[in-house]
Amino acid sequence: MDLTTMNLEQSKTCASSGVIGDYVRELAVNEPAVLRRLREETASHPQSQMQITPVQGQFFRVLLGAIHAKKTLEVGVFTGYSSTATAMALPEDGRLVACDMSEEFTSIARRYWREAGVERKIELRLGPALETLKALIAEGAAGTFDFAFIDAEKSEYGSYYELALELIRPGGLIALDNMLWHGRVLDAQSHDPGVLAIRALNQKIHGDSRVEAVLLPFADGLTLARKI
Ligand code: CA
Repeated sequence: MDLTTMNLEQSKTCASSGVIGDYVRELAVNEPAVLRRLREETASHPQSQMQITPVQGQFFRVLLGAIHAKKTLEVGVFTGYSSTATAMALPEDGRLVACDMSEEFTSIARRYWREAGVERKIELRLGPALETLKALIAEGAAGTFDFAFIDAEKSEYGSYYELALELIRPGGLIALDNMLWHGRVLDAQSHDPGVLAIRALNQKIHGDSRVEAVLLPFADGLTLARKI
């Protein structure tokens, strides 16, 4: 089988692409209308690839319900798909602390938080996320979060992970997006800071006795780490 044939065969059976991918998107995702509108609006954005997939959003909703998450953290909001999906999965008195640098992107997010009726659950902190996470620890929030989603500056993933690990409670979960970085983690010649950081973090989490973790090979690689 040559490479082209193999890719074609793979695209038929891979759960994130081809006809199987279409089948999954149709049946595995029960996307609320507000999230569909947000996804469609973001699709025309030049950086639309930064948006998580509908399957990831659905996965978070199932996961957050399963662990009865009440207090969550997000590093990297963009236009708000993941934060809206997360906040919708939280109880009425749930809380999400959302970290981002961009007033422009988060103004779109805010509009959808209002539309989804979850704005009161979300505290947006604009500024460098590392400073925000350190400030949360200084405020006494260590060990209080049920869930953290990390999807921001790749070169800082190692620091986000350490701070998030301090902020979540034992038994809480950290989810990290783009842990395969479009396959670039396998490029041994790459000296891109993001590639180096993600590769180092994958190795670190693999041997980290503070967590039980799995690298899920869907979307662009999603790592789930449960704090022991
Ligand atoms: Ca991402």
